[in-house]
Amino acid sequence: MPRKSSGVSRRRVLAGGALALALSGMNFVVSKNTSRLLGAPRGRRVVVVGGGYGGVTAAKYVKKENPDAEVILIEKNQLFVSCPLSNLYLVGLINYGQLCFPYNRLHTKYGVKVINDFVTDIDLPKRRVYLSSGYIEYDYLILSPGIEYDFYEYPFYEEASWFYPGAFRPGSEHLYLKRLLEEFEGENVVFTVPKMPYRCPPAPYERAALMLSYIRENGLKAHMYFIDANEYPPVLREGFMKAYNDFYRGMATYITGATIKEIDIASKTIKTDKGDVRFDFGSIIPPMRAPKFLEEIGLIYDDEKWVRVDPMTFETKVRNVFVIGDSCESYLPKSGYAANSQAKVVARIVADRIRGKEPEGELIQHGVCYAMVNLRSAIMVEVEYKYNVKTRKVKKILREDNTWKVSTAKRYHEWARGLWRDMFF
Ligand SMILES: Cc1cc2nc3c(=O)[nH]c(=O)nc-3n(C[C@H](O)[C@H](O)[C@H](O)COP(=O)(O)OP(=O)(O)OC[C@H]3O[C@@H](n4cnc5c(N)ncnc54)[C@H](O)[C@@H]3O)c2cc1C
Repeated sequence: MPRKSSGVSRRRVLAGGALALALSGMNFVVSKNTSRLLGAPRGRRVVVVGGGYGGVTAAKYVKKENPDAEVILIEKNQLFVSCPLSNLYLVGLINYGQLCFPYNRLHTKYGVKVINDFVTDIDLPKRRVYLSSGYIEYDYLILSPGIEYDFYEYPFYEEASWFYPGAFRPGSEHLYLKRLLEEFEGENVVFTVPKMPYRCPPAPYERAALMLSYIRENGLKAHMYFIDANEYPPVLREGFMKAYNDFYRGMATYITGATIKEIDIASKTIKTDKGDVRFDFGSIIPPMRAPKFLEEIGLIYDDEKWVRVDPMTFETKVRNVFVIGDSCESYLPKSGYAANSQAKVVARIVADRIRGKEPEGELIQHGVCYAMVNLRSAIMVEVEYKYNVKTRKVKKILREDNTWKVSTAKRYHEWARGLWRDMFF
């Protein structure tokens, strides 16, 4: 198929701007739907919000550990789409279908009730979760709604992220970014990384490496402006910096510790405290925060962006309300594997409490991230925290493998397949 220009026309830009104005001028009044969806809970109803890495694992494992529990998973999307491995999809190493899983298996195999709806509010004192279709009461609440782009503090990212997606949220952004990359034929590619914390610390650096590989493989005459709010890759620094020097020397300008002040889509210019960058195409990753509704229900303190939890049990200041995954402030970097292992910790606590016990022994959380440095080889980082419930002692193990290998890239695929199996099968 011939490559075509992806240039965003002035007309499209104006149309986008007009839409933004129209939306911001609208006054939405969201009234609560007060129909009760299910009968009253009887001490063992667990409601899980968010069917991503944390929520799916929590729902499955609570039900597995305690088949008598009534487990309800609420997720706004029909299909699970994985962010891990999505950078590989972007450059054609895997297809989109490999990232997708239906939720029905959680119901047919494990008896988890899955409701595809949007959570609009939660009343913590009354223990009610409001959906657009009505409300559900709970005995235990596990929240894993992931991240939101922080357009509240950084509104200028919003329009930019429509046109040049950051693709750090699961779903359609990945599809659109891939199309833009395939159609691009200009000169300047921009790629921006927000300041930590954001989800999956190595993922932007993997994407930069893979986009540069793609540019070279396709013989494009493009130069990347890589604008990083951090001084260096916050993890796997040695591996990434060596890879950039060895494989992509001269193909990119790495602007580190840069603060983005403004993004002008009409002139395709990013203004930073280290100078302006003009671009033809890009992936602009906005700063992130936990979803705003967690603040509205009182789980996020003023001027903070993530939910404070007990870092080993993930319980919030409200008993039997847990927040796991990227939304919470935890020892582990925000990652799918971390969300999966946090979910198992919480599943154990909830299953024990339903049986009238508190957990004993060790609670273990584990994070693993792989990152491709070119189309064939990968590096990886692994971190583990072991918490002894009795002594309250925490033991940390950190391991980085900065030497890229083809075998690590193979393990990357096996790791993802294993994780998806653990969640859905
Ligand atoms: C490019 C990229 C590469 C990555 N690579 C790795 C990797 O190699 N290893 C790794 O471990 N991690 C990786 N990650 C990180 C990983 O994707 C996240 O850390 C993980 O998804 C966090 O899980 P979560 O459950 O907190 O959130 P999510 O998986 O995002 O799930 C949140 C869910 O909640 C739903 N939701 C939100 N609000 C509502 C609402 N109001 N009502 C109903 N549903 C709602 C959302 O639709 C979503 O399905 C990567 C991320 C990206 C972007």
